[in-house]
Amino acid sequence: MPMTTPITQDVLTIPRKLPVSARTNIVGLTRPALREALIAAGTPEKQAKMRLGQLWQWVYHWGVRDFALMTNLAKDYRALLAEHFTIDLPEIVTRQISEDGTRKYLVRIAGGHEVEVVYIPETDRGTLCISSQVGCTLTCSFCHTGTQKLVRNLTAAEIVGQVMMARDDLDEWPVPGAPKEEVRLISNIVLMGMGEPLYNFDNVRDAMQIVMDGEGIALGRRRITLSTSGVVPEIARTATEIGCQLAVSFHATTDEVRDVLVPINKRWNIATLLEALKAYPGLSNSERITFEYVMLDGVNDTKEDAHRLVKLLEGIPAKVNLIPFNEWPGAPYKRSSGNRIHAFADIIYKAGYASPIRTPRGEDIMAACGQLKSATERARKSKARIEAEAGLV
Ligand code: SAH
Ligand code: SF4
Repeated sequence: MPMTTPITQDVLTIPRKLPVSARTNIVGLTRPALREALIAAGTPEKQAKMRLGQLWQWVYHWGVRDFALMTNLAKDYRALLAEHFTIDLPEIVTRQISEDGTRKYLVRIAGGHEVEVVYIPETDRGTLCISSQVGCTLTCSFCHTGTQKLVRNLTAAEIVGQVMMARDDLDEWPVPGAPKEEVRLISNIVLMGMGEPLYNFDNVRDAMQIVMDGEGIALGRRRITLSTSGVVPEIARTATEIGCQLAVSFHATTDEVRDVLVPINKRWNIATLLEALKAYPGLSNSERITFEYVMLDGVNDTKEDAHRLVKLLEGIPAKVNLIPFNEWPGAPYKRSSGNRIHAFADIIYKAGYASPIRTPRGEDIMAACGQLKSATERARKSKARIEAEAGLV
C-alpha cells in the first residue's frame, strides 16, 4: 500500500467554542454510560438500575423532553435530574417537502455545523436517511457530499438526535392508551446521508444501539442499513458490534474505474473488499449484502460491466441496488439511459440476484442520494462563523 495514498480518515477538526454547560445531555448516552452519569449525579447505586429504566422509557419510548413530566419519579428526583441533565436534540433549520412527499431537513448541530436528514415515505414503509459526519473526508467523484470539505464526526447524541427530531416532526411518539401503529412512519433507517459511517464507528454504534433498544425507539436490527464506501478494516465490526444490515458502495467492476469513482479503492481495492465481504460474519441468504451501483452514462454501465459484476459477486449472498445517478450542479457525470439501466438490471437478475432500480426521490428539493450538501455559501458562512466563534479570526 503506497504511503502517499490521499485517502485519510483524519477529520479536519475545527476548534469550536461550545456553550459551556454544566449539565450533561442524556441523549446519546448508552445504558451503561447513563447509569454511571446517574450515579455521579447522586442517584443511590441500589436505585440506579430502576431509575435508568424509567428515564430511558420517558426519553426514548415516550419522547418526553421535560423532567417535570416524568410522573413516576419523585418530585425531588426530577429536580435533581433537571439540575444535572438536559435532553437536547439538534435543531431543525429548514424543512423542505418534495412533490413526492420526501422531506429534507437541514439540521444545525453544536458549533453551527449543519447536516441533512431525509425522510422517504413509501406505501409499506418509511425510511429515514441519516448522516454520520458533517461532509465527508472521502472524495467520490460522483457524490456531492464529497465536494464539501468541512468535516467533523457527529456525536452519538447528534446521530440519535436526528431520529428523535424526525419523530417529532412526523408526530410519531406513542400516545398513552392509543393502539400501536401497524406500520411505523419511520420503519427503517439507512446510514446513507452525509459522511462515511465506518470512519465514525464508535458513535454510530452507540447511536444505533440506542435506536435498537427494545424499551425505547425499538427499531429492529434488520431495519437498519449502514452503507460504506469500503473501509475494509471496520467492516466486520458492523456485524459483530451493531448487527445491522450492510450496504457497500461498489459502483465499478474494475479497479481502474473504481479508483476514480470511489478513491478509497486505491487503499483497499476490489479484491480486498470482496475478501472482507466474503468473510462478513453472519452473512446468509436471509441477510444479504447490498451492493450499491450508481449508473453513470458511459462510465460503468455496459453489458460487460454487468457480466463482470456477476462474476465478482460469485459466492457472496448479495443483492444489487441500481441507483440512477442523481445530478447536482457542476457534476461531471450524466445519468445512464433507462434502457441501459434496465439491460444492466436484467443481466444481474438472470444471474440470480435481486437487482431493483432505486427510484430517485425528492429530486426537486435535492434530497436524492448523493445530492446532500449544505449549500456552498452556507458551508462557508458556517466555517467563518465557527472560526469566529473559535477566536481564529
Ligand atoms: N459514505 C457512505 C454512505 C453515504 S452515500 C457510502 O459511500 O456508502 C449513500 C449512497 O449514495 C452511496 O451508495 C453513494 O455511493 C450514493 N451516491 C452518492 N452520490 C450519488 C449520486 N450523485 N447519485 C446517486 N447515488 C449517489
Ligand atoms: Fe463520502 Fe459516501 Fe459521498 Fe463517497 S459516496 S464522498 S464515501 S458520502
